[in-house]
Amino acid sequence: MRYLGNKDSILHEIEEIVKIKKLKKGKVFFDAFSGTASVGNHFKNKFKIIANDNLYLSFVYSYGKLNNPSTKFEKLGLNPFDYFNEPNVFLDGFVYKNYSPGGSNRMYFSEENVTGVVPKKTSRDQGNFYYQLLQKYGSKKCYICGNEIEETIVASHIHRITDIDNSTTMTEEEKNIAAIDSDNGFWLCANHDKMFENGLFYFLDDKLIISNDIKGLVDRTEKYVEKSISNIKDGILQKNIRALVYRMSDELVLKNFKIEPIHYTPKMHDYLEIHRHRVKGF
Ligand SMILES: [Zn+2]
Repeated sequence: MRYLGNKDSILHEIEEIVKIKKLKKGKVFFDAFSGTASVGNHFKNKFKIIANDNLYLSFVYSYGKLNNPSTKFEKLGLNPFDYFNEPNVFLDGFVYKNYSPGGSNRMYFSEENVTGVVPKKTSRDQGNFYYQLLQKYGSKKCYICGNEIEETIVASHIHRITDIDNSTTMTEEEKNIAAIDSDNGFWLCANHDKMFENGLFYFLDDKLIISNDIKGLVDRTEKYVEKSISNIKDGILQKNIRALVYRMSDELVLKNFKIEPIHYTPKMHDYLEIHRHRVKGF
């Protein structure tokens, strides 16, 4: 943890003083204002540490840091680093309002970083979103490629939760509805989830459109293939190779992929429009 006034940066100076004073191993070291115990922690293998701080947070933090060689988070049932780094939730809490440009003139934290400082829990019910997707699409399976490896499949929003949370035009009720609406999502594998989020593909009505970024790559590949097979004398072999390569690139660009009519609702259309506006600007 980094903290305002953290003493990490003056550790080497304290170390110098300890050396000059010739303090022997095994003596008592008094960390008078321990904060997050970075000083006590640094010297704990040399000296017996007495740490002091008036702030209860510092007491708990120092106690844990000085008494345990390492901290596992088994009982939490989640990885707290993943939790706090989760980009999909955003709360303009105390630190955001007082220590970031988002809510004050202060710039101790950037607006993005402060969301990793404030424990944030989205009020949107993601368990329910899973349930709604199960109802609409059935069990986890990438809507684009059919990948069924459960561990790689995510419940992907079309209108992103982070944008829903930050929306200034939606009411709180509209936000809650959009966050769990099965028309606002599908199961996607991790690859297609990222590609969709970054706009490498998007939808025009129910039709999947590949972004030019990928198309260029495929076109270049096809040109390269034509050049490579142009010397092959055996016409049938040449034709077969071409067919094989083109089938592979067809799969890559997912030509003529359409959302099934049973899934394509007017509401889904609206969400897809929001997505396309975000990634393509039109
Ligand atoms: Zn996929």
